[in-house]
Amino acid sequence: GSTEDSARQILDAIESQFQLSDDALVRITDQFLKDFRLGLSEYNHPMAMIPTFVTGVPNGSETGTFLALDLGGTNLRVCEVQLKGNHQFTLRQQKYRVSEALKTGEATALFDYLADSVDAFLTEFPSSPNSAPPDPFATGSSALDLLDTSDSSPAVPLGLTFSFPVEQTALNRGKVLTWTKGFSAKNAIGHDVVQLLQDAFDRKHLHVRCVALVNDTVGALLSRAYTAGGCILGSIFGTGTNGAYVEKVENITKLGDSPARKHGGDMVVNTEWGAFNNTRTTLPTTPYDNKLDRESINPRLQAFEKFISGMYLGEITRNIILSLIDAAPYPILFNGRASALLNKHYGLDTAVMSEIEQAWENGRDQPSSNDKLVNGSHAISNASAAHPHPSLSTPTRHFTEVDKLSPEDRSRLERIRNIVIQRFALDAADVTLRDAAIVHWTSCLVANRAAKLSGCAIAAVLVQTEKAKLGGGFVPKDEKITIGVDGSLIEHYPNFNARLRASVRTLVGEEVEARLNIGLAKDGSGVGAALCALQATKQG
Ligand code: ADP
Repeated sequence: GSTEDSARQILDAIESQFQLSDDALVRITDQFLKDFRLGLSEYNHPMAMIPTFVTGVPNGSETGTFLALDLGGTNLRVCEVQLKGNHQFTLRQQKYRVSEALKTGEATALFDYLADSVDAFLTEFPSSPNSAPPDPFATGSSALDLLDTSDSSPAVPLGLTFSFPVEQTALNRGKVLTWTKGFSAKNAIGHDVVQLLQDAFDRKHLHVRCVALVNDTVGALLSRAYTAGGCILGSIFGTGTNGAYVEKVENITKLGDSPARKHGGDMVVNTEWGAFNNTRTTLPTTPYDNKLDRESINPRLQAFEKFISGMYLGEITRNIILSLIDAAPYPILFNGRASALLNKHYGLDTAVMSEIEQAWENGRDQPSSNDKLVNGSHAISNASAAHPHPSLSTPTRHFTEVDKLSPEDRSRLERIRNIVIQRFALDAADVTLRDAAIVHWTSCLVANRAAKLSGCAIAAVLVQTEKAKLGGGFVPKDEKITIGVDGSLIEHYPNFNARLRASVRTLVGEEVEARLNIGLAKDGSGVGAALCALQATKQG
């Protein structure tokens, strides 16, 4: 009937807006490479390509006990890390909530809170005795033991993981360039973040010294290198997205004649790839993206991140769902009725999309074995990467044939319907099986695009580091290419890793893709900060 026809047209139009052809992926990756090179040659380019002054990656033999503080995502984390020197570590950590008021208030209040959290951690969570290996900085066996009150004892070395763009001038110096991910604290931009933190420690008479400043991507790179014995790229797919990789110093031409450049060798570069497409000239953008961007606290910034990361995928999906509820001349979803939750800005968490896709996957005959990530140094199975499940490229359109579905598929849709009713806080009478199928399809569209674009960023790094050629045809030496990843999206979202790999394969060929050893850099920010603190104390 005509209701059906108009719905079909609207859904088709949405689907085509979210598709990315292979050609489009190549074009996007090519632009990534151009931006990488521009960012390496000049300051203030949107692709910031920040030199981190981290001049090598660990091999797993490093030892020591360090404090780490991690600010940059949904939680603030304080941890004590013991590097055992055999690719292994132990870690004790505590998470503290960062309120909206702290994120958007005065920077000194935020940094006082960081110092208070470190204080609380050291007071509330003393180390178990005899648990630590010999430590290079004191005779004590843990960070708490190091926290001697006498002034003559060395301060506890702390590495700060600060996952916002910073213009770094030394391992322990860097100015905040801009806030991202919902932070906007006043009087921080342009200030040295290590100094802001150290001042807060000093105000509270805490005997702790911030010796290293590290981005979470750098942390992921270093920690994966520590556990796997080497790594070329650390990347984050969590609240935000970003990547850091090992570059030849000679290629970082904007360092000019600085001592670091003359020294040569390698340096880790923090790409800040979340800002890709800030010019808005490369990525095919939908009205749902534009609405998200306009209503965000950083319009026109972090354009790539807004297509990719956990903070935003739920919001894009919510925008599509609202447009389907409001569709004219006939509503396409939920009898035209939304809920208070669906009407709320950021009311739909990406984790709910994850749950919806998982409900479908759980009933599938063959789970995609190539979607598993590994911890530590174990290899990840590539077996089925060359034969991805069809839904990896085109989302299923079960809504066109709900009446003809097999009993198994129907029961999977029933599960999704229950999730939708619960998580969207809708009246059950307003949610049909077809609605459930449309919501599932919407989630697939949005997540698929995110994973494919994530593949572009990774492929660009592979090409930049001469591990691959855009277009394929490059046969790498018989070795693994190790990549560390972190973040709830890549860790938990069903098929995100498999979809990302499919995109990389399209871009650089299966010989390279098959050699990718993508593994979780578990606790990357803590372990990475510890490794960086170690490098700092050696240099200092
Ligand atoms: P952060 O990046 O802040 O350190 P996470 O890696 O946990 O922390 O990422 C948090 C983001 O991941 C949030 O935006 C949240 O919506 C999203 N998220 C949380 N759980 C899941 C999940 N199971 N699947 C997909 N996304 C999730």
